[in-house]
Amino acid sequence: MPSLSRIAAVVLSLVVGAAVSSPRAASDSTDGWGYGYDSLLRDLREWKNHRDVRLDSIGATLQGRAIWMVTISDSTDSLGAVPLREGPKKRVVFHARTHPAEVQSQRIANEAIRFLLDSGELAGRLRREFLFHVVPMYNPDGVEMGLSRWNANGIDLESNWNKPALQPETKALKARFEQMMAGTIPVEVALNLHSDRLNCTRFFFMHDVGGTSSAFVELEKKFIAGVQAHARQGWFEDWDFIQSWVEATGTQYPEGFWWINHREDVMAMTYEDANCTGADGFDTTARALVLGAADYAGAGSVGIDPRARPTDSDVVFERSGIRIAATGRTGAWEIRDATGRRILSGKAGLHGAFVPWSQVPATTGFVVVRGASSIRTVRLPPRW
Ligand SMILES: [Zn+2]
Repeated sequence: MPSLSRIAAVVLSLVVGAAVSSPRAASDSTDGWGYGYDSLLRDLREWKNHRDVRLDSIGATLQGRAIWMVTISDSTDSLGAVPLREGPKKRVVFHARTHPAEVQSQRIANEAIRFLLDSGELAGRLRREFLFHVVPMYNPDGVEMGLSRWNANGIDLESNWNKPALQPETKALKARFEQMMAGTIPVEVALNLHSDRLNCTRFFFMHDVGGTSSAFVELEKKFIAGVQAHARQGWFEDWDFIQSWVEATGTQYPEGFWWINHREDVMAMTYEDANCTGADGFDTTARALVLGAADYAGAGSVGIDPRARPTDSDVVFERSGIRIAATGRTGAWEIRDATGRRILSGKAGLHGAFVPWSQVPATTGFVVVRGASSIRTVRLPPRW
């Protein structure tokens, strides 16, 4: 039976939403870009019936709309009325729809919620091991006003995190992040979902060493490779597709907040989905983002076969292939069969290499990586 207080919260926000006067600003969309606040409330009403969902508002927008957060985790009672069991759980947070026109970002947030609420074994395990928080519509005023990038004040909520006076939406999200970090289960992965018209591609805004640290850059590469491992080759662009913060930290962004305050402890990145005619596969993308985040935070307990995690990071066996780390300008790799015969080879160089399993004919053998001053041999793992 659903909690009455939660029903009241949804009903209240419906009333609040209806009381808002018509926006006077010029609109680019009259239907919430195909998924408005009413659509969200409809979906929230469905999701909150799941026993492992807790629904709450992190705060109100300028025009008084609730900014909803869906928390998914198994709880000590079916109403979620008592605090969720604290334990060895890991915390992951996604927020979407900062830019109202980027409706694809919300489609992914919604699919992530649906994937986590699935009745299967995998979703059940994720709910036991993790606390997932999803803010599927961070800028509902902008959505309802038909604005493409702004809130009701005409401010871009993506890039006002370093202002002395924050917008109410940013203030609410930041306060919630701070509250989570002060608790016993800190956030380990924080994804900021967007969509972009760049060549109909799916990619992450990788933060360069100029604005972060070399240790964080390695973590970013690991995280992106982990997400890629849960979709077919080429579904997501590689880590080096877009690099930002080449010269300095972007303090105006949510990721700037995470980096300044929590450094390597939080994998905070912006993900850009394809924003183009025919963009689809939101369920595939959401699944990969959730599983990639879970793998990253949970040290391989969910997706990537733990047997495949080498102790040394220069050769990583992933679901879809073999990832070979950068080895310096002269680096190279070879794959040899069990008799030592070379069957494949290539350069690893400054960016490393990726060899899909489909190109590896041998079922037993070795990967040999030659760096400037070292040679390393790693046995091929059993296939899965
Ligand atoms: Zn955006």
